[in-house]
Amino acid sequence: CGVFGVYAPGEDVAKMTYFGLYALQHRGQESAGIATFDSNAQVHLHKGMGLVSQVFNETILDELPGHLAVGHTRYSTTGTSRVVNAQPAIVPTRLGPLALAHNGNLVNTAALGQELIEQECNLITTTDSEMIAWAIGLEVDKGKDWLDAAISAFHRCKGAYSLAIATPKGIMGARDPNGIRPLVIGTLEGNPTRYVLASETCGLDIIGAEYLRDVEPGELVWIGEEGLASFHWSQASDRKLCIFEMIYFARPDSIMCNESLYSYRLQLGRQLAKESPADVDIVIGVPDSGIPAAIGFSQTSGIPYAEGLIKNRYVGRTFIQPTQHMRESGIKMKLNPLKDVLVGKKVLMVDDSIVRGTTSRKIVKALRDAGATEVHMRISSPPVTHPCFYGIDTDSQDQLIAATKSVAEIEAQIEVDSLAYLSWEGMLIATGEDPSRFCSACFTGDYPIQIPDPVKRSKLI
Ligand code: 5GP
Ligand code: SF4
Ligand code: MG
Repeated sequence: CGVFGVYAPGEDVAKMTYFGLYALQHRGQESAGIATFDSNAQVHLHKGMGLVSQVFNETILDELPGHLAVGHTRYSTTGTSRVVNAQPAIVPTRLGPLALAHNGNLVNTAALGQELIEQECNLITTTDSEMIAWAIGLEVDKGKDWLDAAISAFHRCKGAYSLAIATPKGIMGARDPNGIRPLVIGTLEGNPTRYVLASETCGLDIIGAEYLRDVEPGELVWIGEEGLASFHWSQASDRKLCIFEMIYFARPDSIMCNESLYSYRLQLGRQLAKESPADVDIVIGVPDSGIPAAIGFSQTSGIPYAEGLIKNRYVGRTFIQPTQHMRESGIKMKLNPLKDVLVGKKVLMVDDSIVRGTTSRKIVKALRDAGATEVHMRISSPPVTHPCFYGIDTDSQDQLIAATKSVAEIEAQIEVDSLAYLSWEGMLIATGEDPSRFCSACFTGDYPIQIPDPVKRSKLI
């Protein structure tokens, strides 16, 4: 999911949020929503199914007045794809309404939901995000202020959460103690009292906000009339940023770990060329996510880079659509091979990951049909062998092709002349940081946040 927040009295905060969400559209395409607060502490909410551009128009945005706002783009990892599950989630409290936008996935929803129901919460959905909102609301109603309430609630939440929360008085940004999902803070040009929160820096760029810093793992920031205040509420903050954000999920023009993800992905391709060279005529990338690594591969190998597949930019990310059937038809709509580039060529195709293997198999066939004489595949990450419990929809383990098949078996199944994956070390060394600062559990099964057994069993073979 994508989250966004802005505190900017005197500005059109709804419009800013709209544009911020527009830049974060790649993080979720199922639903979108914006909540604003006006100076009478009234909340104004609009949310709906579909893309940001489908959910909002000028008239709707004009009906969202206020000086602060939060917004959300959703793809479901818990809860079904329905409008009640769209965010921001709103709950009433003693101090007025609270609107919450969440990216990530809690692993203790069974226990937390039970606790909340016992305290007579009016949970209307099955989402972990609404549970966080209620958990904060309950603490407020016990007499705490917003900050103490949020901190108490966070102590009860286990899992991944990057949050943008709006209250009548100010906005809050928070990350779980492991900082699994990203969240950044920006300032609005020339005005140090106006701040923006966004899942990625591309959400700041679009509205001309300047990157200030990341929200730290286990940090809560409050942004209001008095400016920005920071609270480190967790003793055990140990950053485990999702490496899959860096490899695939986040936009290449976003900055993480001090460099653009485009540069990081180029570096992955260079490393891949060193580890697994091939004797071919051209290197192509699977658009869009495989392209930077393909260019990196070409740079290091000296083999010319070419565009061999053209993507229809108006079709959403295939994996975000909920059913397998839609996924499969989605791929056909999405990529078209360039015959004159491919005919008679030995082709090396680079992609960022193989998850189920359905995309790869289809593309390989399309390349051969277009006249490629050999098709080799290189993947700029290691085999995905484990499911994600922290907010990326990589499916249950039995759907993951590398969970049960060796590289040689996958090679045979997707019908390529050769297949190689980047090493785990290569993927992490390219970050330029200590490997222990990342979650890479979908490649190793080494989950940084403990997962309750029943939840584990629901997705592991
Ligand atoms: P698959 O192997 O499942 O057919 O899809 C792999 C392709 O989907 C790659 O091009 C990769 O960019 C993209 N992808 C990345 N992450 C995910 C994910 O979480 N789920 C799915 N299905 N595809 C993903
Ligand atoms: Fe990211 Fe994989 Fe960890 Fe999930 S399991 S948070 S996708 S690295
Ligand atoms: Mg891709």
